[in-house]
Amino acid sequence: MLENRDLSIKTRRRRLRIAAIFCILFMAGNMLVKSELPSMLWKMGMMAVKNHTIPISDEWNLIVVNRWNEIPENYSVTLIELENGQKVDSRIYPDLQEMFDAMRAEGIYPTVREGYRTAEEQQEILEERIQRYINEGYSRSRAERTAKKWVAVPGTSEHQLGIAVDINADKTRSTNDEVYTWLAKNAYNYGFILRYPLGKEDITGAEYEPWHFRYVGIEHAQIIYENHICLEEYLLNRLCN
Ligand SMILES: [Zn+2]
Repeated sequence: MLENRDLSIKTRRRRLRIAAIFCILFMAGNMLVKSELPSMLWKMGMMAVKNHTIPISDEWNLIVVNRWNEIPENYSVTLIELENGQKVDSRIYPDLQEMFDAMRAEGIYPTVREGYRTAEEQQEILEERIQRYINEGYSRSRAERTAKKWVAVPGTSEHQLGIAVDINADKTRSTNDEVYTWLAKNAYNYGFILRYPLGKEDITGAEYEPWHFRYVGIEHAQIIYENHICLEEYLLNRLCN
């Protein structure tokens, strides 16, 4: 009798254990299904990233120009000239100015080395780079291939939009490293993103450039910064959600 009762307790415990396991599996399964959906959409988006088909945005500050997406025809920009002669889109000027003021207040002195460029200027830069590699002994085709890794072909450079800037140090007072470190940490607060991050080369089509910052506006810059994503990923993620 005692043995029988022991047995029934054991059986009941086993059943309880099995029920508990089923319950946990069910809950885990449920959670998985719920969390899988956005991640599936994200993966679909990532496939699109790999194919480099970027949705076109109507917002001027979210336009994508890269080696697969050329600057739209008839793109026009109102430029403003900086003290050193460089030009930028007048819409990014107030935030750029504010960012530089904030940096200077911390004792770091930046300068815009490159702002807006015309297609002709982009072509010249590319040709100069090709020539430099040829002078170093590269064949013409290898020189072209290598140059294009670093310099965008005309029509595919963000500098032609006027909303991208290469920022270096005013060398008499600061180092480039100081400027790049500050920008990496703070630029998003002023609406600028590190456009070509390390590890995103396959998606952006460009090598890591700690000096090249691109305006997207504060709201978008914050999300891009906090999620460690690049502009292309951000746009696809928006499409999925
Ligand atoms: Zn640049």
